[in-house]
Amino acid sequence: MTIGFIGLGHMGGPMAANLVKAGHTVKGFDLSQPLLDEAQGKGVAACASLAEAVSGADTVITMLPAGKHVLSVWQELVATVPSGTLLIDCSTIDIDSARKAHEMAAGKGCPSLDAPVSGGTGGAAAGTLTFMIGGEQQAFADAAPIFQAMGKKIIHCGGPTAGQAAKICNNMILGISMIAVGEAFVLGEKLGLSHQALYDVASVSSGQCWSLTTYCPVPGPVPTSPANNDYKPGFAGALMLKDLKLSQEAAQSAGATTPLGAKAAELYALFNELGNADKDFSGIIDMLRQQSGGTA
Ligand code: NAD
Repeated sequence: MTIGFIGLGHMGGPMAANLVKAGHTVKGFDLSQPLLDEAQGKGVAACASLAEAVSGADTVITMLPAGKHVLSVWQELVATVPSGTLLIDCSTIDIDSARKAHEMAAGKGCPSLDAPVSGGTGGAAAGTLTFMIGGEQQAFADAAPIFQAMGKKIIHCGGPTAGQAAKICNNMILGISMIAVGEAFVLGEKLGLSHQALYDVASVSSGQCWSLTTYCPVPGPVPTSPANNDYKPGFAGALMLKDLKLSQEAAQSAGATTPLGAKAAELYALFNELGNADKDFSGIIDMLRQQSGGTA
């Protein structure tokens, strides 16, 4: 296939490179020249404009920061591509913008999918992302080889916007559970319990969760977690706050009550304000410890 790829940042760059590895022709565009050069080094044809990147493409993928970027790029896309071109947005964006993007595509006669990802920059590089996808069954089936080149788990969640809904709900669980695990370790410290002992018990008991067993926020028990690397991301505090805000916007407009999601958004806003936006989100344990008057 010939694929136009718009947005070659931390996630889009390695995703485009994996499409090249799978044998697709990939034409990339980004506002940043250094990122275009880097992508070119990985076999992506670096294009000087969006129009050049999408010319002759069967499918166009966008991987952009937020809803406003996606809507502005999709506006340009539907004015440029022929009807029938498959449009896929892999960014994490608000439900309203995702709905508008699908409507724009439908207006042009283009099938479209919202396909946000989980797995971070490591998963993007390794081609092991999880894709959560919203859109029509036929578009999902047509896009399967594309997702398989970039990910391991590919889940059709339902009609338009269902992928974004799944992403927002999943990351609300993640934000809340990381705070819960951090609080438990801080309380354990106060009670004289070693990190390893709490880990050994909770990881095989009812407190078991991904934030504990894969991403343990204290150094030691899970050697690959960011806690062992001075909380370098990983998944930055700024991105966690972004996703929690999206969950709260969605909860408000859908009329869902999510008190722990709201509290998690508030705590991550404080974490960011304290200068931790570029730290891994699991570093919130340090803030919780400081609030408890502790140091280590
Ligand atoms: P990023 O900022 O590194 O990349 C976004 C890229 O889009 C930038 O390179 C920027 O120059 C480009 N861009 C912006 N406007 C453009 C335009 N009009 N035309 C062309 N290019 C444009 O962000 P990222 O970390 O790659 O994240 C991308 C999306 O994936 C976000 O929605 C994010 O929430 C989501 N996400 C990120 C991660 C992660 O760990 N980084 C994990 C899961 C999901």
